[in-house]
Amino acid sequence: MENRKFKVQAINDEILAKLSLKNRYAFLNNNLTPILSQKEFNFLREVERFCLRFEKKNNITHGPDEDVYDWIPAFGEQGYISRQHSFDMVDVVYENWGLAADLMRTIAIDIFDPQFGMGGGATVLAINPVYEHHEGVPERLEALKDLITGKSPGAILITEPERGSDAVHMLTTCDEQEDGSFILNGTKIFNTNAPKSKWVVAYATAERNNGNTMAQFLINTEWDGWFCERVNIPWVPKLYLGKEQFKNLRVPKEYILGGVGKGREHLFEGLVPERIAISMMSVSECWGALAYAVIYANNRKQFDQEILKFQGVGFLLADLWAKTTNMTIGLLKFCESYDEKVEKFSGKIPKNISQAMVASASQFKYQATALSKEVCYECTNLMGGAGLCDNTLMYEYLNISRIQEIVGGSRQIQQYIMSLSLRQLYKMSVS
Ligand SMILES: Cc1cc2nc3c(=O)[nH]c(=O)nc-3n(C[C@H](O)[C@H](O)[C@H](O)COP(=O)(O)OP(=O)(O)OC[C@H]3O[C@@H](n4cnc5c(N)ncnc54)[C@H](O)[C@@H]3O)c2cc1C
Repeated sequence: MENRKFKVQAINDEILAKLSLKNRYAFLNNNLTPILSQKEFNFLREVERFCLRFEKKNNITHGPDEDVYDWIPAFGEQGYISRQHSFDMVDVVYENWGLAADLMRTIAIDIFDPQFGMGGGATVLAINPVYEHHEGVPERLEALKDLITGKSPGAILITEPERGSDAVHMLTTCDEQEDGSFILNGTKIFNTNAPKSKWVVAYATAERNNGNTMAQFLINTEWDGWFCERVNIPWVPKLYLGKEQFKNLRVPKEYILGGVGKGREHLFEGLVPERIAISMMSVSECWGALAYAVIYANNRKQFDQEILKFQGVGFLLADLWAKTTNMTIGLLKFCESYDEKVEKFSGKIPKNISQAMVASASQFKYQATALSKEVCYECTNLMGGAGLCDNTLMYEYLNISRIQEIVGGSRQIQQYIMSLSLRQLYKMSVS
């Protein structure tokens, strides 16, 4: 029986049992077997097995009364918060790490619970700058360890009420003090996990609207001067997003990840893994929705036939399936070649290659998020009333897939970045 909590059962017992997490994983695995290396597949299965056990042991129903933040410590203990890196500097060493490993982790967790997966993605965004810029400072290493071991979720504070897409012209200010600390003043908004996080990474600027004077800070939310309210996003009701005010918030010098003038560079450095992570989440949503719809269409009968056998259903599912498979192969190829380059250049990818990857990351973010929107909507549609009621996770896929085009830079901003790259490529190519 599917482990769901709902008031009224709309789907019959037999079909509901077939829609279990175990069967949805099995559908995914049978699709991915020919694409993945043995190592990738083994790691995917490892995370899936953990999620299956975790769901069963804790009687998780994915109902509205569960707090997905309660689950973080258990996933942290297993090392499933981020696999983008191995964290040897804080003695958290993984055999399986890199973007490809993180794709496996993301798919397994997202299919287990999409909102939990999205919250985890925001923590990864806070981990990355601390990983890159800890410089061996004990205070930063302590924060890094808390984040990767699930002691605290993390958040990244870029967006402001008046500065969204135009993120580099910030209004939040940072004033350097004689002792090397900074005083921050300003307002941030829409920061995933912030109300639940002990550690956040924030950007501010020495001179308002001047991107050249941006700096990057690690903040402990227990410090004086931090005020945070929850912003409600009804499409992801289990996630806590923050609207924060910094009122003379003092950041000691040990917590400055990038001083004045370094902030913009640090912001852009994080964008490739961020956009790839959103693409991973989007493709995971496609697989999650497809698994439900394919199992359902093979069982649901109308006019005395399984609905899959009607062209209107079967051909549409085939179309969505082909697009999702191809997107997965493309994304996996990107992740694998990124990992190869990290290894080849000992973690410091040369600027010309990383610049080319900025365009690739935008291409994936642009198409994967659009695909999630299409696949999740169409799969829900193909399940009729069963897709729209609360008996499965389909309504969560429908809702969460509407958000992905906005987070991490909107569709239009990705198009803008790609169009700039086309100008650059033209100049590089045509004499
Ligand atoms: C669920 C959720 C989670 C989020 N998580 C985080 C987070 O963790 N941390 C964080 O810092 N932020 C986060 N954000 C904020 C998100 O990154 C911004 O909402 C996004 O960048 C868009 O900014 P905005 O909302 O101010 O929209 P605006 O920038 O005001 O854009 C409004 C519309 O105008 C379009 N537009 C703007 N400029 C241009 C242009 N030059 N050309 C063409 N069209 C343009 C946009 O595409 C959009 O359609 C989150 C947002 C949401 C909804």
